[in-house]
Amino acid sequence: MKVGVLALQGDFDAHLRALERAGAEGVPIREPVQVADLDALILPGGESTTIGKLMARFGLDAAISEAYGRGLAIWGTCTGMILLAKRIASGAERGGQPTLGLMDITVARNAFGRQIDSFESEIESDLGVLRGVFIRAPYIVEAGQGVEILARHDGKAVLAREKNLLASAFHPELTDDDCVLRYFLDEVVTPS
Ligand code: GLN
Repeated sequence: MKVGVLALQGDFDAHLRALERAGAEGVPIREPVQVADLDALILPGGESTTIGKLMARFGLDAAISEAYGRGLAIWGTCTGMILLAKRIASGAERGGQPTLGLMDITVARNAFGRQIDSFESEIESDLGVLRGVFIRAPYIVEAGQGVEILARHDGKAVLAREKNLLASAFHPELTDDDCVLRYFLDEVVTPS
């Protein structure tokens, strides 16, 4: 299985290492031509405004959307969740940033409050108890009917799936808990 990790900015290295631990082939993705033959793609944590702009500048947004239309599975962590969302809640953070807009969710950015920029917590989820590392994390404010919420923290939706899209507000790749990655590879990615 060939899994791309969008490598424009952010913590893509951590995802590549996690893929190696899981025995999957991870490929850093920087150019549109690389997207065509992937089975899956991971959008890492980072800064969504920066990654969104770079993605648009290099034409990666179009290549990813096209591959998604042909069945590519995509998992977004943190910034990746923001990039997947169809809607970004207006509020303190600016709207109108370039995103992929594929998943029927509304996401609020930096949503756990300024005082708690980052924190770690155990999360009860449909996949079992997970270790959640949250760094200026978003959460899902609203989700369409086709979206399955798999975990909440403090009542806020932080892990969700819609068909072959998976979004987590936290960073499993920064822990040695590969549970969410395994779920992505085993349950979300459909072999081509
Ligand atoms: N707050 C960042 C954003 O809006 C996300 C932070 C992260 O990915 N850890 O993109």
